[in-house]
Amino acid sequence: MPELPEVETVMRGLAAILEGQTIIHAETRREGMRWPFPAGLAATLAGARVEGFRRRGKYMLMRLSTGQSVLIHLGMSGRMVARPRGANTPPPAHEHLILETAGGTHVGFVDPRRFGSVDLIPTAAEDSHRLLAGMGPEPLEEGFTPTILSAALAGKQTPIKAALLDQSVVAGLGNIYVCEALFRAGISPRRLAGTIPGARATRLVPAIKAVLSEAIAAGGSTLRDYVQASGEIGGFQDRFAVYDREGEPCPLCPNPPGCPGITRIVQAGRSTFFCARIQR
Ligand SMILES: [Zn+2]
Repeated sequence: MPELPEVETVMRGLAAILEGQTIIHAETRREGMRWPFPAGLAATLAGARVEGFRRRGKYMLMRLSTGQSVLIHLGMSGRMVARPRGANTPPPAHEHLILETAGGTHVGFVDPRRFGSVDLIPTAAEDSHRLLAGMGPEPLEEGFTPTILSAALAGKQTPIKAALLDQSVVAGLGNIYVCEALFRAGISPRRLAGTIPGARATRLVPAIKAVLSEAIAAGGSTLRDYVQASGEIGGFQDRFAVYDREGEPCPLCPNPPGCPGITRIVQAGRSTFFCARIQR
């Protein structure tokens, strides 16, 4: 599933194509995706100018000149595909929502598994939308500090891995970047969240910020069928220290017997990758 760096990358790609453009035509090709498309979506989009974009957690908000914002979640397999009008290539399969700009570009929301979603909300009320209202701080903003993270984790009896996946603790993290941040901070994914406040939170916050920033700079990570708006492939998956590297040597430890390499365990039904020697 696309996480914060992938969503940020897709959003920047969409902004480069759509910002300042007027949408001359919009079309939905089915009733909806994860949920039905909002009533009047295509009619609202047609004639609107795209004023700008904002990301909140794993959601994108496309702000329109009508005073409304289109809330977009890519789900598991969603991607945005841009192509010039009249291109000879056939439209991609599973294209459920299509925008056409006055400048002659088609942008399609393609999602074979249809876990993605689209909603339409007043721009002034973005943060009170049910999917955004309870969301925790943006990890790359200054307001995400060790003090704030400590307060969110105090007393929690769940493993830190699960706590960081909870979008009300911190927004935008998923399985990949939680594994990578915990490795950088030297914290075991099994450690109870309530033991993180203090010195460990002081290590964890900069680790989260660094891994997300580096992943954005690399254009995100591409796994399976996920690609960016531009169709380019992100490169951060080549730099994972632990994620999806079970049995491989740990980048920070000497070879066995010093370190058994990267271990995989399953927590709450999801794979966790870590070094049992340095992550305590
Ligand atoms: Zn190690």
